[in-house]
Amino acid sequence: CGIVGYTGFQDAYDIVINGLRRLEYRGYDSAGIVLENTDSNFSVEKTKGKVDDLVTISNQLKGTAKVGMGHTRWATHGVPSDRNSHPHISNNGKLAIVHNGIIENYDTIKTMLIDKGFTFKSETDTEVLVNLVQYFMDANSETDFPTAVRYALNEVYGAYAITVMHDDYPGLLVVARLGSPLAIGIGENEFFIASDASPFVEFTKEAIYLEEGHMATISLEGGVDIRTIVENSRITPEIQELKL
Ligand code: GLU
Repeated sequence: CGIVGYTGFQDAYDIVINGLRRLEYRGYDSAGIVLENTDSNFSVEKTKGKVDDLVTISNQLKGTAKVGMGHTRWATHGVPSDRNSHPHISNNGKLAIVHNGIIENYDTIKTMLIDKGFTFKSETDTEVLVNLVQYFMDANSETDFPTAVRYALNEVYGAYAITVMHDDYPGLLVVARLGSPLAIGIGENEFFIASDASPFVEFTKEAIYLEEGHMATISLEGGVDIRTIVENSRITPEIQELKL
């Protein structure tokens, strides 16, 4: 139900945890976090319960990463449980996703992926989406990470706001939106992602509200590259000045 992401120079753990607290008002049943270590491996912690419960099992991650994302879940597919909590990791361990919303046709895609040898650890629609991204990267070595996300999104219908990370693409976040809100905070040498601007207003007053059917590839080197999900047409972002 709530998403927070960060790439920059500050402690990603603090930004994500404090950001999730600011989104608690939205309601949720579980919380989770994934951080990208300096050797670009993922550390994942997630649990049924409150952000406080997440902190209890994850505080060893404080100070270990400058890139990461977190989630508060409001279960729609699969009971509230540790396993069904986000982030979800792809079969090859390389992709991590957090997702708000519902993938309506997840069942058909799940059957196709099981047929191709994929296995699933949760009952969620979300875990299907992250494995579909892996599927498109596996299918063609020319397909890069953001392109595979776009291909996957063109196969699903439903509502989503997502943030995806790939451990071969350090520091890079891919986000997309259809029917669920997502804001990008533009700092100096740092970017924030969140379901609304409240997790990052204390750090920057500049934000892009991602529009319906748009996705963005975000990194310190490349900035914010926004495209339409269907056509891959480049969009010039409209940067808004946040007022308190
Ligand atoms: N449909 C997803 C799930 O049940 C995401 C729910 C949400 O928006 O938090 O895990």
